[in-house]
This record gives sequence, C-alpha cells and structure tokens, in this order.
Amino acid sequence: MLDRLTRSWVLRLGRLEEVKNMLRARCRPKSEELVIGIGEGPTAADRHEARVSDLGEDHGWHSTSSAANPVVDPQALPAPAGLHPCKSGAPVLSREDSPGGRGFATLPRGPDIDVEFSLDLNLPGHDAERVDEDGAREERERRIRVVQAKDARFDGWFFIAVVTTRVYCRPSCPVVPPKPENMRFYPSAAAAQQAGFRACKRCRPDASPGSPQWSERADLVARAMRLIADGVIDRDGVPGLAARLGYSVRQVERQLLAELGAGPLALARAQRAQTARLLIETSALPMGDIAFAAGFASIRTFNDTVREVFALSPTELRHRAGRGLAAAAPGGLSLRLPFRSPLFPDNLFGHLAATAIPGVEEWRDGAYRRTLRLPHGRGIVALRPGPEYIACQLSLTDLRDLAIAISRCRRLLDLDADPVAMGDLLRQDSALAPLVQKAPGRRVPRTVDPGEFAVRVVLGQQVSTAAARTHAARLVAAHGEQIDDPAGGLTHLFPDLTALAAVGPATLAVPQARRLTFSFLTEALASGAIDLGVGCDWEQARAGLGALPGLGPWSVETIAMRGLGDPDAFTAGDLGVRVAARQLGLPATPAALTRRSAAWRPWRAYAVQYLWATGDHAINWMPADGRGGAAPGPGFRQRRKEPA
Ligand SMILES: [Zn+2]
Repeated sequence: MLDRLTRSWVLRLGRLEEVKNMLRARCRPKSEELVIGIGEGPTAADRHEARVSDLGEDHGWHSTSSAANPVVDPQALPAPAGLHPCKSGAPVLSREDSPGGRGFATLPRGPDIDVEFSLDLNLPGHDAERVDEDGAREERERRIRVVQAKDARFDGWFFIAVVTTRVYCRPSCPVVPPKPENMRFYPSAAAAQQAGFRACKRCRPDASPGSPQWSERADLVARAMRLIADGVIDRDGVPGLAARLGYSVRQVERQLLAELGAGPLALARAQRAQTARLLIETSALPMGDIAFAAGFASIRTFNDTVREVFALSPTELRHRAGRGLAAAAPGGLSLRLPFRSPLFPDNLFGHLAATAIPGVEEWRDGAYRRTLRLPHGRGIVALRPGPEYIACQLSLTDLRDLAIAISRCRRLLDLDADPVAMGDLLRQDSALAPLVQKAPGRRVPRTVDPGEFAVRVVLGQQVSTAAARTHAARLVAAHGEQIDDPAGGLTHLFPDLTALAAVGPATLAVPQARRLTFSFLTEALASGAIDLGVGCDWEQARAGLGALPGLGPWSVETIAMRGLGDPDAFTAGDLGVRVAARQLGLPATPAALTRRSAAWRPWRAYAVQYLWATGDHAINWMPADGRGGAAPGPGFRQRRKEPA
C-alpha cells in the first residue's frame, strides 16, 4: 500500500486541505487525523483516479475521478490492499468537467515526484483488524460521552438502547443515562426495534430530526433514505425503490442493512409506526382510518406494530397524549417539526415569502402557506417558525399523504441540516466568520417540488422578481388546478409537468429563447428524461439540465442548491454573491471565487446564504404580517439576475 501511495502523482497541499474538509464532513471520521494518499487505479483506464483513504479511522477509501474518468463508484472497484470502501459509499470528489463546474480533483499525472504531504501512519506495519477494533472502541466511547452529555446535536445520528429496560432513546434523552455497559448503539430506530427494543416514552426517539446524512449525501444509501421518507416503499414496494435507484433489490437491501442495521421493509415499518403515532396523538380520527392512512395493510398489523414499537396500545397512546393538544382546524392536523438548533429563520421564510407565487403561496398571520400536490391527493400547509420547532398546520384530502407531506415540508425548510458542523467550517474563513457569528444556523430555502422549482428558475431568468411572480401566476391561473382554501387566500396547485409540457410556448409572454427552454425542460421532466426527484442522482441531474438550451451554470447550480438540495451547490456567477464577495474582500470573479470556495466544501450552498444575507433586500427579512405574499423589496431586483 505504501508504495501505491507514494508514487505517481503530485497532490498539491492546497487541495489536500480541501480533500480533508470533504472527508471530515462526509465520513465523520472519529479523529482529526486523516491519511490521504493517491495511487493508481486498478486498470490502465483508471490511471487518473486518486485514492483518498482514511486509514487511521474508519479504514475506508474513496475514489475520486477526473475529466478523463467519470465518477467511479468505490463499491464497484477492487479495494486497495487492506482497505474496504468507506462506509459513506460516495466518491469524495467529482468531475472537473461536470456541468456545475465542480471539482478540484483532477490531479496532474506525472513522473515519480515527491508527494507533498507526509503520511501520518507507519503503513507497512499497520494491522487492519486492530485498527477496526480500535476504531469501533473509540466510536463507542465517543457515543457514550455524547449520551452522558445529553448532546441534542446527535439526535437522529444514532440511537441508544438500554439492555436493562429494553428501551431505545435519542442521545439527548432527559432520563438519567444508564451505565455504559448497559448501552447499545444502533444506526437507525428500525434497527433498535428489530433488536427488540421499544421507543422511550420520554424522549420520543422516532420524532428526532432525520440524520443530516440523508440530505447531505449523494450515494445510494442516502438516495434510498430520501425515497423511503417520500413513501416510495408504501406505494411501490422494495422493487419500486430498487428500480428508482437503478440497483437490484439485493444490492439495496445489503447496503441499507450494512449501514443502518435494518433493511428497507423495517425502515418503512418504523416510519409507518411514527406516522401512526402522530395521527393517534394529534387527530381525533378513528383508529381504523389511522391504520389505513399510516400505510398499514390491516388493523391487526397496525395494533401489533404500535404495541411492539411503543409498548402501548393505540388507545393508550391517545389517552397519554391527553388534551394538551390544541384542536386543529376542521380536517387539519397540527404538528411540530423539530430541527437541530440553531435555526435562523429570517432568510429562510423571507426568501419563500418574497418569491411567493400568488395563489400557490402566501405569507399570512406569521406563517408561510402553500398548496401541495401529493401522490394520493392535495394539501395545504402553513409553516410558522418558533424557537424550538416549526409549527405545521396541514390539511390533506387523503391522509395517506401525511408522512410524505411532512417529509417534503422538512426538505423545504432544510430541517435535517447539521448547523453546528456547517457553522464550524464556515467560521474558519475570516471573511465569513462574522456573518456566521451574527446569524448562526441559516438554512437553504428549498422546495416541496423540484420540477416546479426548475420551471420557476426558467421563468425567472433575467427578469425582476415581480415579473417572475407575474409570469408564474399567469401560468398557474391558466393551467393549475383550482383548490379551496377556507383558511386563507390560496387558489391553485402549481400545474403538473404533463400539463406544462402540453402548454403551447407561444402563449407564454416571455422572450422566444426562454419559451424554447421552457418547452425542452417541461418535456424532459414530464417524460422522465431528466429526474429531479428525491432519489435522483445529483450529477446525472446536473448533466441533464446543463445539456438543455438556455440553462447555464447559474440555473443548474440554483436548481441543484434549492431543488435537489445539494448542500455543496455553488452559484459563483450569481450577481448577489459577487457583490457580497467584493464587499467582504473575497475574490469577485467567478473563477477566483470558486477556488476560494473550495475551503467551504461541502457546505458552499450555506456560504451562498451568508453572502446573500449581506444585501439589503426582501429575501433576508422575515415578512411583515399581512395578507397575501409579501411585496419584494426594491433592492432585490438589482441583486440577482434570475431570481427563482
Ligand atoms: Zn429516552
């Protein structure tokens, strides 16, 4: 291994830091020490591939790739001697020639030149098994410390089960921590349930925010988790999940089991149990309706599962919840969406309100409201920020959509993010540090529907925010389905993609070039030629979008950032970003700023939020209370050429 690491290529020291930042973020190594090496690929064709190995810790390796060599799946390659692919599964770096212009990983190939970094371990004497054992022990000790400190940042990252009480908890459970020897750790609630543990009644581990990994990562396991949260297994079964991912059922099962300790069915069952609990506790629905809405095949499996997971019957659960819950609007549900603190709400809600499409979205009585198109029906949601949770008022035409609606609202508000890790990294840049200090926990305002978002980006190209809203509102009035909103002023669903693909471009009051882009985009989305769904492959989606006429890097990266939810998407050419960069003394040309932004990886989308926030415009303000969408401020137009 050593000679593989020390010959062949130069790794520049600047890049080494970038690679280390990426690794720290993606794999969560257990110590600060990282050993990074580069080496030959397994075949001559792979000679541009570089190996990045975290030898001291989880003992895995990643592959990188280059222009000459498309992204390599480390799982598909023979591992270097003594190493297995890193558990996070993802290649760390991406192609320099990818449409988003990402990537710094193309390493120059050259003769045998000294590698410009030192290896921290004495590799030849390294014993793989000992490292695995040491690593597992250190990880266990770290988790014990987290539980003893009741550190809420790790809620959702792992679950702790107590062998004496047979109960599993979130790490921050308020109950006195058990003795370390009685602790067991599980990577998912489903795995703890399968091992025979029941959910703690105090800390409600199933209601923790989701692990940030599933929204940050681009690999198979994360894509699968996003799809499961979106209800794909309940609708199409495990084969449907595997088909969407482009893998076999066995491959998907094996990878989920390896990483989460539970297969897809157990993960979906855990989600059904949690949905059932929500409905039992927050609605007055009969139990039979709840069983159906939560996705259970029969009342009996519903009763059995609830008893197994929560150690209470459905009726007992409802009784315990008591009357503490406010009555929701008729047909509505009142929920709390948890998040990891801190959360700075101003730009999040400000952006959504300032760009709201009349009829589809509005700011009303301190809440952002919008209509939802869901697999079984439609819905209206009102989301109101609070210091401890986001209050969520949902009305749905079909309760089977509940879990999906919640999952989409969480994605919209970026609620599974890990603001502490992100803030720690961005604060290391002296230009960003004061901005993060002033408003820790900014989120990326995202979307409930990536297809809708992409269409809005096109409508918003090179026009003012007001004009973009007008174009979108016209489209909605002409092609959207009408919806009743007794509690507010919403009138329509955003048109579905099939309807949009059938729209005669000539009827759009936009320039000819934009009409063409609109047609190509809606056609590609409606036919499935481009997939922007929660389980899509981000790089493929970028490549597909970038190949359409009229979608440049700005549009593609904006869709990646807010539509796909890639936390590392970066709009270097954005006018607002460049103005902010100049004011802060950062490089202002896109190329130079992109180079500087390497230190912000993999959280460059959050850096964009901090840069935008230096401007004086409506997207940064919590809207004033009032009826209808907030009017965009005058400064907003000048900041961004293509507001979305
Ligand atoms: Zn607990």
